[in-house]
Amino acid sequence: MKEIEMSVKNKLLEKYKSKRNFSITNEPYNDHELAGKSSIFVVQMHDARNLHYDFRIEYNSVLASWAVPKGPSTDPNDKHLAVRTEDHPYDYAFFEGVIPQGQYGAGPVMVWDIGTYKNLKEDLSIEECLDKGEVVIWLEGEKLKGGYVLIRTHWRNENKNWLLIKMHDEYAKKNYNILTEQPNSALTGRSLSQIEKEES
Ligand code: MN
Repeated sequence: MKEIEMSVKNKLLEKYKSKRNFSITNEPYNDHELAGKSSIFVVQMHDARNLHYDFRIEYNSVLASWAVPKGPSTDPNDKHLAVRTEDHPYDYAFFEGVIPQGQYGAGPVMVWDIGTYKNLKEDLSIEECLDKGEVVIWLEGEKLKGGYVLIRTHWRNENKNWLLIKMHDEYAKKNYNILTEQPNSALTGRSLSQIEKEES
């Protein structure tokens, strides 16, 4: 099954590469070692009009996405607003760079954290969890670890407002600001201003 998945992803990537001139665009070229092996999650720090963190999880070969203005927390008492945004392509998970002025979301983007996740709702697929408005996952990131819940604030599917909440487990930590304590890229170690300088 995994081999089939890999070959499908490689074929998809050939098409992706044939459509792009990588001497012009900064979009990702290489596949990632994690692709096809596990479900990935990514948190991208994004300084558009307002600084926010884009939380994304892989499902059905795309990334379900939320914009989290306050970013993720390690404290189970924090209920941070997470606004559901459109699904993004899988390869977006490895995008770190600067979205040019005049383009949607113009500004620097950092891969603040990346890793794999497990769906803790064993009887439901992530797609079903997204429909129901409750996603319960276990993260194995460089920074974020343990259980997290994403819960829609209203049963209606059209509602875009969710909450991102840390679960009570051995990785829960109060009085710790993971965003300021660990501010740099999980991929390249760079700060957001370094990325802005180097990629503009
Ligand atoms: Mn964003």
